[in-house]
Amino acid sequence: MGYVISRTGFESVIEKLGQQYRLYAPVRKVGEGRYTDVDVVRYDFVTKFDEIELEAKSDYAFKELLTPLSQTLFFFTENEVKEADFDDRDVIIFLRSCDMHAVKRLDAIYLENKFADPFYERIRKRVKFALIGCAHSYEDCFCVDMGTNRTTEGYLFSIDVAGDEIKSDVACPDVAALFEAADAKAEEVVPAYVTENEVRVTVPEKVPNEIYKHGMWDEYTARCINCGRCNFVCPTCTCYTMQDVFYTDNGKVGERRRVGASCMVDGYTNVAGGGQYRRTNGERMRFKVLHKVYDFRKRFGYDMCVGCGRCDMVCPEYISFANCINKLNDAVNELEGGASK
Ligand code: SF4
Ligand code: SF4
Repeated sequence: MGYVISRTGFESVIEKLGQQYRLYAPVRKVGEGRYTDVDVVRYDFVTKFDEIELEAKSDYAFKELLTPLSQTLFFFTENEVKEADFDDRDVIIFLRSCDMHAVKRLDAIYLENKFADPFYERIRKRVKFALIGCAHSYEDCFCVDMGTNRTTEGYLFSIDVAGDEIKSDVACPDVAALFEAADAKAEEVVPAYVTENEVRVTVPEKVPNEIYKHGMWDEYTARCINCGRCNFVCPTCTCYTMQDVFYTDNGKVGERRRVGASCMVDGYTNVAGGGQYRRTNGERMRFKVLHKVYDFRKRFGYDMCVGCGRCDMVCPEYISFANCINKLNDAVNELEGGASK
């Protein structure tokens, strides 16, 4: 069912939802961007409709709400272990279509990858979504070619601002009751979605083994500074590492934390004996790119990258992931045509 509702009416819907759920949405942080006087848009707790940034795309993804950057799993003493408490209140996260598709990737990794991760599962069970319609594409988006530009299910309601009114496709009967109590007008609503992006990518269907030694990766050894920013803004990067933090000098009391990790930074592939699987930044880029647009698909049947373009927005070296996918496709065509670099 769909509704058209006044801004005031929608504000009252949000206020009522806020009494039942913790609401998280993109919020503009004025002056908190990476340069002086630059804003940043990132996810934060909201209680009012006008706190939600609906025009700009968020610089950082929502994923820390499902996979915290630092999460205490349990506490230990000499002879006891206690699982960490967690906040079990229900949550609604406001997401655009590409990020709704990113949730599917997170679920695949944490719930369908041989066994369900209990720490992810207990958070995920508490989380529902509201869809932010995309009336237009943003600078670095390539969602259309990644097939993530449209979402038709998995949300409680959608939001599209149309002048002084809000249009919502409402899937949840309880939320529909809130719209009706706020004098919303029933009308069929299709959430806005983009049908073309300026950035286009062609993802190769198959990748021959020769790609692992291809010269295309040398460019990234020269340009990438292995800062890992691309991983931390990506809604589908899921890697983590473990840290034991000891409270006392004797090292018998402490906590185990799971913290975010990046396949681009030093140390990620270190192994005992001083070994390191991927030393150059080009090798790390190769691993990341093939994981996003090939290896994940071999396992789950669809690509991991959702084309949100955040990694392109954040890279200090102006490395474009979209260009990298296209260069990969060119290299694959060249290899399949018999030529090799
Ligand atoms: S790889 Fe880049 S474009 Fe793809 S989902 Fe991650 S941040 Fe978005
Ligand atoms: S953000 Fe750019 S420079 Fe930093 S690790 Fe990623 S590709 Fe390399």
